Amino acid sequence: MNLDQSPTAQQQNPNLERLIKLQEVDKIIGQLTELIQEQIPRQIKALEDDFTSDLAKLKHFDEEVSLLSKQKKALEAEVEDTKVKIAKAKLKLPEVKTNVEYRAILKESDNFERRILKIEDEQLELMEKMEEKALQRPSIESQVADDKARLDKLKAEMEVELKSHSQRLKALNEERSGIIGAVEPDVLASYDKVRKQRKGVGVAQVKDGLCMACFQIIQPQLYYQVRTTMEIYQCPHCDRYLYHIPEPKPENGETGKKRSKKKE
Ligand SMILES: [Zn+2]
Repeated sequence: MNLDQSPTAQQQNPNLERLIKLQEVDKIIGQLTELIQEQIPRQIKALEDDFTSDLAKLKHFDEEVSLLSKQKKALEAEVEDTKVKIAKAKLKLPEVKTNVEYRAILKESDNFERRILKIEDEQLELMEKMEEKALQRPSIESQVADDKARLDKLKAEMEVELKSHSQRLKALNEERSGIIGAVEPDVLASYDKVRKQRKGVGVAQVKDGLCMACFQIIQPQLYYQVRTTMEIYQCPHCDRYLYHIPEPKPENGETGKKRSKKKE
């Protein structure tokens, strides 16, 4: 056999030629499936999480405001209650017999008055906090609204994208059915098995004596056979089906021009 002779694409094993095409289709099917099942849901989930966290933040904020409001009401009630106590104490004054009693009642009223002053300080502090909260709420609300808008926008875009990906996937699966119908069942089973075990790739180019998928050296004898016979071979290291693309020969005047593969 002439060692210089490179097989042309027409001499390729028909099963191998179909497997190469199948590999191209499977690669795109894999990418689309990853997009549909992983990437797009992950993007949506990330925005949904943002939105959920915004809502939780707003809820927590409103709970704090509600707590302040309860504290404010409790203080108001205490002021009213204390005022009543002062009035009652003062009512007792006309009935007082001794100076000791008199001073005791005045002291009691005085304590009540001081408590009211203290409450008024607390109320002032509370109102400042509430005013601050009232100023903060719009920015939290707008964060919620912005994230909701982003989520809705993404969902709408993804719906369109998913539809187009699904249609493409359907077409590719039909194409795949067409291709596999023409591949020998044993070869196809082996291709599918390897593909599942080897990151979705069941066919590999062999170049300069190397399997371009596992990057192991192919024995010279096998490399020669892959290049020169119509048989179909598997990489002894990764089991992928091997194919060889003939290099253009400069002496034939084909420099820089690649031979196109003839499609079935
Ligand atoms: Zn290999």
